[in-house]
Amino acid sequence: MQAKMDDLDRLLEAQGFDLQIIHLKKQLAELPQPARIADARSKRQALQKKADQVAALRKDAERRLTRIADEDASLEKKQNGVQAAIDSAQGDYRNVEARTKELAGIARRRETLEAERAEADAELAKIAALHQQVCAALDEIDRLEAHAIQEYQQQGGALKKSEADLIAKRDALLDKVDAEVVEAYRKTAERLGSIALGVLEEDRCGVCRSVIDGGRLIDLKNQAPLGVCPSCKRLLIIKS
Ligand SMILES: [Zn+2]
Repeated sequence: MQAKMDDLDRLLEAQGFDLQIIHLKKQLAELPQPARIADARSKRQALQKKADQVAALRKDAERRLTRIADEDASLEKKQNGVQAAIDSAQGDYRNVEARTKELAGIARRRETLEAERAEADAELAKIAALHQQVCAALDEIDRLEAHAIQEYQQQGGALKKSEADLIAKRDALLDKVDAEVVEAYRKTAERLGSIALGVLEEDRCGVCRSVIDGGRLIDLKNQAPLGVCPSCKRLLIIKS
């Protein structure tokens, strides 16, 4: 292919930048933070579910306590009424006996309710502890995620900045190279995803190291200063 030696030197230099760019992209793709962020988010979802369950448990326990308190308040009222009836019965023996029994029944029920209240209180305390645990775990997840995001912005941002600098340098070089040569380089680089350009070293490709035998070597040299390695299909600079 027709090309000026100056252009080919620039192209080689531009390839140096391209290789650094590939390396940076790889580093960016290998940063551990995106996986950490995704992990934190899925853990948060699970914890949020747990928090919802705990909230439902708390609501149940609170409802139970309200029911107990309501029943107890109404029993207390009843108790006072019966006591007042006893006080005003004034020696009506049968009436007093029946009322006294009723009073004892109310007292027993209130005792049962008191035990239930203690049980529900203890349950509520357990639920509160669980709630605190879930909240602490959520806080920790938030902290980890925020840290990973901040780190990613710093490290990823620095890599992207370096990449942009390299791209600018490479493009400034390529601007000075013949468009047809740049196009051939770009297509080859795209197809191979790695080094696209090498130098013929005596009878070997400088990249894949294949020995190029007699007839093909003559063909290649006829393409000077820019040919194609018959083995790896990379562009080869042929210096005379
Ligand atoms: Zn080769």
